[in-house]
Amino acid sequence: MDPIRIAIVGLGKIARDQHIPAIRGNGNFDIAATVSPHSPPMEGIPHFATLEDLLAGGPAVDAVALCTPPQVRYDIAVAALKAGLHVFLEKPPGATLSEVEALSDRAEKVGVTLFASWHSRFAAGVAPARAWLSERTVTSAQIVWREDVRVWHPGQDWIWEPGGLGVFDPGINALSILTHILPRPVFLKSATLSLPANRAAPIAADIEFRDTAGALVHMDLDWRQTGPQSWDIVVETDAGQLKLSSGGAVLTTPRGTEHNEDLEYAGLYARFANLIRGGRSDVDVAPFRLVADAFLRGRRKLVEEFHD
Ligand code: NAP
Repeated sequence: MDPIRIAIVGLGKIARDQHIPAIRGNGNFDIAATVSPHSPPMEGIPHFATLEDLLAGGPAVDAVALCTPPQVRYDIAVAALKAGLHVFLEKPPGATLSEVEALSDRAEKVGVTLFASWHSRFAAGVAPARAWLSERTVTSAQIVWREDVRVWHPGQDWIWEPGGLGVFDPGINALSILTHILPRPVFLKSATLSLPANRAAPIAADIEFRDTAGALVHMDLDWRQTGPQSWDIVVETDAGQLKLSSGGAVLTTPRGTEHNEDLEYAGLYARFANLIRGGRSDVDVAPFRLVADAFLRGRRKLVEEFHD
């Protein structure tokens, strides 16, 4: 089979840290080009300031991976779909739910693949956690996602703007795992969003979800954590406790602890190739919908100004 010629759009942190190595490690893909308005090109790869420039005069491509901030992704995705390209969306899949649904409809009409990716679902412990929980009754769960925004997102102003999600930018990774491993759907019961006086997006959030059988899920998100960072999900069941730590990489159940190799982005690109070869799309907005509900229903609490 011919390799899928892919262009990476948005040559920022995640494109360089994860997408480039994962694509290079997957024989289904060839990196045909990069697109980014200000970032320097990578050696040996044709580079363009905009997708329009690439489409007008660059090498032929079959697919694009959109690694831009979410606020600009819709227009780029539409241009790509109009050109008949398969589209990989970084998480979160857009700035609003309705635009993601519009993209999904358009991809279906054009007959190409749209993949709304959730990298944390490919963390090593997540698939075995889902399998273990599928045979148990969940009684409650607890998410603690506490990290230092100054360490992980320096200079990323877009993350504080509407559509940038604030602390839900990492928090949505926890929700992508939760919605994948719990046997029943959850919905939002209450939320308190802590907003710095000088920012448009929350720096912390305290949320309660409930599953359809009544089990409560508490979520503690905070970007002001210094010292040890936490990316943990604990699920209590009728057969003991399950814990996913380190963002889903490490799984502990009453059977013991499993440490497996981190294959998040390798897993994403294997899935993208599979979807393209099979003529299918994968657009699950469940994690994004829970975030939208938190913004809809959340009580706002002003906290002190945040400065980098
Ligand atoms: P980033 O470092 O700020 O990079 C974003 C890049 O997008 C910038 O380099 C910028 O390019 C480019 N860009 C902005 N507007 C563009 C446009 N109109 N056309 C083409 N490129 C454009 O952000 P990031 O951390 O990589 O995050 C990007 C996305 O990946 C976000 O949705 C984020 O949630 C997700 N993600 C990030 C991480 C992480 O650890 N950082 C992990 C997983 C997922 P120029 O520099 O050329 O202006």
